[in-house]
Amino acid sequence: MHRRRMLRALPVFILMFFIVLIVDFQLRTRSLHKLNSIHNPFGGDLLRSIQETPLSAAKESPKPAKFPRQPAAVSTMNQTVGGLQAEIQRRRDKLRALEQRRVVITPSLLRLTDIFLAVKSTGRFHGTRLSLLLETWISKTKEHTFIFTDTEDEDINSRGYNVIVTDCPSDHSHQALSCKMSAEYDHFMASDKKWLCHVDDDNYVNPGALLSLLSAFPQDGDVYVGKPSLDHPIKAHELLDGNKTKEVQFWFATGGAGFCLSRRLAEKMAPWASGPRFEQTSAVIRLPDDCTVGFIVERRLGISMVHSSMFHSHLENLLLLTQYTSNIPLQVTLSYGLFENKMNSVELNRLFSKEDDPSRFKTVHCLLYPLTSWCP
Ligand code: UDP
Ligand code: MN
Repeated sequence: MHRRRMLRALPVFILMFFIVLIVDFQLRTRSLHKLNSIHNPFGGDLLRSIQETPLSAAKESPKPAKFPRQPAAVSTMNQTVGGLQAEIQRRRDKLRALEQRRVVITPSLLRLTDIFLAVKSTGRFHGTRLSLLLETWISKTKEHTFIFTDTEDEDINSRGYNVIVTDCPSDHSHQALSCKMSAEYDHFMASDKKWLCHVDDDNYVNPGALLSLLSAFPQDGDVYVGKPSLDHPIKAHELLDGNKTKEVQFWFATGGAGFCLSRRLAEKMAPWASGPRFEQTSAVIRLPDDCTVGFIVERRLGISMVHSSMFHSHLENLLLLTQYTSNIPLQVTLSYGLFENKMNSVELNRLFSKEDDPSRFKTVHCLLYPLTSWCP
């Protein structure tokens, strides 16, 4: 009799057992789903933080109080749900902590003023080349542009520009050019700027395009970016002890088109570039300043230059650049100069006569900054 009653109740017990199992399973999956769908605005790290913590950690979470009067299966279910809730809360706290940490360590965006713009000039070009730059692009970057020259200039000084009068010779020799580059490097290193960009006094710098370009690099990376003037690495003969030489090859960014170095890379260059060392390194390869930078970065440090087609020197045909006017705002630097006695410059719809604007820098400036007072 008793056995028969037991047998009749058995399917009910089995049914109840399965119901409890299903409810338990549903609660588990719903909690996990909720955990995984917590908004994750920062991607990688937060996801990793969830993945790195094994789910078994739920077991280690503080257990909720027991309710002895409840059936054992329900009590186990409550424990599991309670454990998961505690785990979810723990992970939420962890996410919040990570978010807060993220806010602190997120690198601030690069600003134009973080770029140390070094312009190489010489006394005899102050009134011509340099004044054109002061009137055009340097008017937009005055505070963080530094003019490296060899001659005092009261007029430029009195107008509040940063002029560094070096002791360097005023000629065009390798030594004189390396001497000025060395001053550019040392002044940058002593500054709080994040990038060093060098240009010659016959370069137009497009500040917006420069900022976009540099912003695209990892700000704590080793970056040397510019344009080579050759389509192959240069060969140099490195002087070794005992008057021996060794052939070395490397890419370099031509100084006449301008180039940039990130601070981290500039710091690594110090053993061959700081103080008197830059000129010493230049003497080791017997090549000018821009080649010396390429030699230090590629051969001494083993870091490859980034080739960019957005820097331009007057060694290339600049006419080709202006087939489309819309090209110009994308270029980081431009230049001008005589080539076989003819002016090599970009050519845009004329806002000024050729006599008034032989370099076309005024026209370019008016295209980029049409509200400038002297633009037609
Ligand atoms: N430069 C100089 N001393 C000179 C001639 C030129 O310091 O006697 C500077 C000039 O101001 C410019 C750079 O060197 O920034 C390159 O000069 P340039 O454009 O005349 O020659 P390039 O090397 O482009 O043929
Ligand atoms: Mn030049």
